[in-house]
Amino acid sequence: LSFKQYQGLAGRSTNEVLQLYSAHGQQQKLQRSSVVTQLHGAIKKRLKQDLKSLHSFALELSKDFQRQSKTYLYQVLTAVQGIQLQNEAMQMFQIKAFDLEQSLQEVTERYEKEKQKRRALHNSLVELRGNIRVHCRIRPLLPFDAAAGHSISQDRQRNFSEKVIYAADDETVLVKCSRPGHASINKSFQFERVYNASESQDTVFADVAPLLTSLLDGYNVCIMAYGQTGSGKTHTMLGPQLEENFPYSTENESELGIIPRATQEVFRLISEKPPGSYWVEVSVVEVYNNEIFDLLAKDSGGKVPGAKRDVVTTKDGKRDVPLLVYETVENASEFLHLVNKGLQLRVSHPTLVHAHSSRSHLVVTLTITTVVSGDNWGISWEDEQTNQRLNKEVSWTFPQKMRDNTSTSSSRASSPAQLEATEKMKQVKTRLQLVDLAGSECVSMSGVTGAALRETSFINRSLSALADVLGAIAEQRPHVPYRNSKLTHLLQDSIGGDAKLLVMLCISPGPKYLTESMQSLGFGTRARQVQRGQVRKK
Ligand code: ADP
Ligand code: MG
Repeated sequence: LSFKQYQGLAGRSTNEVLQLYSAHGQQQKLQRSSVVTQLHGAIKKRLKQDLKSLHSFALELSKDFQRQSKTYLYQVLTAVQGIQLQNEAMQMFQIKAFDLEQSLQEVTERYEKEKQKRRALHNSLVELRGNIRVHCRIRPLLPFDAAAGHSISQDRQRNFSEKVIYAADDETVLVKCSRPGHASINKSFQFERVYNASESQDTVFADVAPLLTSLLDGYNVCIMAYGQTGSGKTHTMLGPQLEENFPYSTENESELGIIPRATQEVFRLISEKPPGSYWVEVSVVEVYNNEIFDLLAKDSGGKVPGAKRDVVTTKDGKRDVPLLVYETVENASEFLHLVNKGLQLRVSHPTLVHAHSSRSHLVVTLTITTVVSGDNWGISWEDEQTNQRLNKEVSWTFPQKMRDNTSTSSSRASSPAQLEATEKMKQVKTRLQLVDLAGSECVSMSGVTGAALRETSFINRSLSALADVLGAIAEQRPHVPYRNSKLTHLLQDSIGGDAKLLVMLCISPGPKYLTESMQSLGFGTRARQVQRGQVRKK
């Protein structure tokens, strides 16, 4: 090949080569760009996939989070709701409890009202049947109840400290006793009211108080405690004894007995009436060995001799105790002071020496004088019956106190000038007799001598005279043997006729005094059977 040829050829070849080369480069370029594109695509695809999965992961995560937060929220809500429900339930319970409490209170109130109504009805019934009501108070078991003997075994001691007499309900006394060597007893007694050991002086007096209203309506009233020594007569009538010198004070009012409370109530009732139209006089006597001793009497030197008095029946058929000291009292504390003075004498005077205050009957009498104006006949008498009764009882005498009285000009009754001027003032006396009877234990006469024998037989006689009087009234016998004893004679006006008598039987719950208690319950039961038919006018 010529050079030219060769050159030409070569030139051609070079060109070709160049062409080829560029073609190759182009091809390569082409090839490379397609790889890049492919790679790019793949990467893009992968990225997309990753993103997608990331997205779905995030989505999942957020969903999960949402789900979980929802669950938690739900749980919180449920808890809150639970608390709310509990609160509501609590409130409901509170409301229910309150409602229950209220309805319980209502029921209790209604029950109390019904009980009172029933008792009032019962009282009217008693009134129709006669005017004697018998209440029975069982005192608590006390340490000395157990000390029956000197050397009793613990077993027997326990027996002795067990109650054999209970209040089954507020009208029934249950006596249940079975002792080896004794016939077993299982008896019940009914009374107008029975108090168990836990019933307070307040409760006892609440049942007594209505009687005092009758007092200002013109009826005589007598309240007496009956029972053996230690059964709680003095506790019930006066209260627990505090000290020797001044036994009954108004300091511990909740423990005061019937006598001071009745006086308070009388003064309260009087305070509701026109001023000066009523006044109260007090006498305190003791009936010992069938003799009446004036515990308020003083000799000229002001000493207290404990003078003997007698009871007489006046021309107009009333009981009177000539020379008996009546002291006018203006309030309950004056009264208590007076009674305390009397009681001191009861234990200190030589003629009255007796081992135990339970050996005599104590009679505290409140005489209430009512002034009734003739113009306005019956200032506050509600009914015709009372008017009639008062018309018959009018007397024209006035007590010392009233004649002397110059102070209270505002009260129409206590101004003597006014009294003389009108001459139409009339007065009526009603009596409240409060009696702490001597111990009713059946002391056997054997082995008792001298003063003790005398004492015992007088007590037995006066208490059986009382039983006879109640029995005679019960059988409506024409003759009632009031005069068989000083006690019944003294009390005649407040246990006979249309007077109202309340016998408070006092009972010890232990077996030690079972015989005495049964005797008292028997006395009370017989007294309850008193039937006087329709209330008789005097
Ligand atoms: P009585 O006058 O019948 O002989 P008391 O009233 O002296 O009897 O009572 C004898 C004892 O029993 C006293 O110590 C008295 O305080 C106590 N007692 C009586 N009744 C009650 C009672 N209801 N509650 C508490 N103690 C009472
Ligand atoms: Mg007594």
